[in-house]
Amino acid sequence: MTEVEGKSCIAIVGGGLVGALAACFLAKRGHQVVVYEYRSDIRMEKSCGQSINLALSFRGREALKAIGLENILVKCHGTCMRGRMLHDKDGNLKEVLYDSVKGNCIYSINRRYLNVVLLDAAEKYPQVQLNFNRKLVEADLEKGKIKFLNTNTGATEDAEADLIIGADGAHSTVRKIMARRPLFNCAQTYIEHGYVELSVPCKEHNKFAMSGNNLHIWPRGEFMMTSLPNEDYTFTGNLFAPFCVFEKLKTREALLSFYIEHFPDLLRLIGEEKLVEQFFEKEPQTLISIKCKPYHVGKTTVIVGDAAHAMVPFYAQGMNTGFEDILMLDELMERYDSNFAKILPKFSELRCDNGHAICDLAMYNYTEMRDLVTKKSFLFRKFLDKV
Ligand code: FAD
Repeated sequence: MTEVEGKSCIAIVGGGLVGALAACFLAKRGHQVVVYEYRSDIRMEKSCGQSINLALSFRGREALKAIGLENILVKCHGTCMRGRMLHDKDGNLKEVLYDSVKGNCIYSINRRYLNVVLLDAAEKYPQVQLNFNRKLVEADLEKGKIKFLNTNTGATEDAEADLIIGADGAHSTVRKIMARRPLFNCAQTYIEHGYVELSVPCKEHNKFAMSGNNLHIWPRGEFMMTSLPNEDYTFTGNLFAPFCVFEKLKTREALLSFYIEHFPDLLRLIGEEKLVEQFFEKEPQTLISIKCKPYHVGKTTVIVGDAAHAMVPFYAQGMNTGFEDILMLDELMERYDSNFAKILPKFSELRCDNGHAICDLAMYNYTEMRDLVTKKSFLFRKFLDKV
């Protein structure tokens, strides 16, 4: 890669959704960008068949719009969700619109496809280099020095950059290195719930088995199921439940009687064999929430996305907030003419409290979705108590 005069060399650790988006924004400003991603190139892998989808909302769309990708992603490949569809145990449905006045909706979008489009877009810039199979193992954050393990060869490789951007997700190594420094605060919380992903097939060729324009929720108090529509007329669902509930679902019989009792309509749609096969394919995954401060080190390192503010998924804002981080970083680049000594402290100042707030909102929605959506919301009830 040739150096561009007056432009900085930026290393992005993590080529997931937020890292790939950051590469596009920074390259657009003319910086040299090197992305180091732990995994192999997802674009070379065969699609795993199952669609894992995310809800994309206004925050995320604004960022995609700024790099010219909103139309292709949202208009061509997003599935509009106009509201929640609540399913009770007897199969009764109740739709709660997100915006009954203007009809705004959020969009369900395939995670892998989104990542592929962002990586392709980043790679179109000549000043972007994508390095896969590189795991960050050590860094001197003040000096901009980073050390990677090349997982293909087993060798370690050193690199240097004017700016290191940690976009390496909830279990960020960059953040862990920052945590060795004084005056860095970090709190992590694992909630007692985990999740298992389940796919709901289409009814018949090109037909959704349920309304294709809703985010479906089966609130059951202690646990819940959710599912989002996919472009291919399937749904991707999640069972969110405490680990002590998963502990009781270790056999086919236990699992089926649980679904017969709590989610009979879903069981009919998924089918017994498919449910059992998918459910026991993987262990339930954990859910973590991270609040830390500051998000930067001097003028050389900043963390973004889940690395800075991983949150529980119940507000569907993790990726959206990460995308907004990049939009804000870009605005600060413009305001301070890419002077990192000014940009990074300002980013922490403007972003940390908002990051903490959205983590709190997501945690609040954790109760709201599985329990209170069927009743009046907790805050609403508190409000009613007062008036
Ligand atoms: P990641 O997507 O985790 O990417 C981090 C990347 O860094 C990965 O590619 C990883 O391989 C790489 N990496 C990790 N360590 C290293 C290392 N040491 N060296 C190099 N590379 C490394 N958000 C929404 O906005 N809407 C939703 O509907 C939504 N639904 C969700 C549902 C579930 C069940 C979950 C768990 C999350 C959901 N989220 C949702 C949150 C969303 O998935 C995350 O916020 C988003 O993926 C964060 O993107 P990221 O790029 O910061 O991190």
